[in-house]
Amino acid sequence: MSGNISVIAIDGPVAAGKTVVGLALARRLGFRYLDTGIMYRAITWLALQRVTPMDDEDGLGSLASSNPVTLDGDDSARVMVGGFSVGPELRRPEVDRHVSMVSQVSQVRRALVDQQRAIASEGRIVMVGRDIGSVVLPDAGLKIFISASLEERARRRHSEQVARGVDSTLEQVVEETRNRDNLDTQRADSPLTQPPDAWVICTDHLSVDDVVEMVADRVGQPSQGRAG
Ligand code: C5P
Repeated sequence: MSGNISVIAIDGPVAAGKTVVGLALARRLGFRYLDTGIMYRAITWLALQRVTPMDDEDGLGSLASSNPVTLDGDDSARVMVGGFSVGPELRRPEVDRHVSMVSQVSQVRRALVDQQRAIASEGRIVMVGRDIGSVVLPDAGLKIFISASLEERARRRHSEQVARGVDSTLEQVVEETRNRDNLDTQRADSPLTQPPDAWVICTDHLSVDDVVEMVADRVGQPSQGRAG
């Protein structure tokens, strides 16, 4: 199957490991990498900056359509939006708290999905998000759905926050993760779903390397031995 796969779609819930797997996989295959979550975060950050009310759908929609998000670097860690280069600030708790609301707005989704499709049209890309296999790139050569239990995902997210010096308790992170899951799976426009033709990988007991090697094997680039 492999030689023909040039677009890989990866979806899954918050903190399932999809972004770290996606980036490692892209590097392993020599593909480009786009974490679409950062685009929704960038619009949320801009809305907070401009004090756009989070329930003003038209305001959020026009913010997204008039401020294209462009990549700043090749690892989706930084983007340009509204004339700013932003990175770590997109991971702040206030962005975490509002991003699922912003991403429910259809006009915001339309603007960002158009930008994502344009980026994918050149091929050789690993694209990660919630609706990539189902909506953005339904013809992707390989669709992967990465999952993990709520407890494991919250534990990972909490350790990331502790490492960044964010003051939070595991209980708070479990609650926030559950809320974000609910918003992501229950929204009317492009909810997080498992595409029927996706390969489902549960990462509770798998390392990043394990997953990358499984996928690389499937796309015809079998193991060169484990790194690190
Ligand atoms: O993956 P990450 O947690 O950075 O994504 C932030 C938020 O952006 C998600 O909780 C989800 O609400 C939204 N998102 C989305 N569609 C995508 C990617 C992210 O709705 N393709």
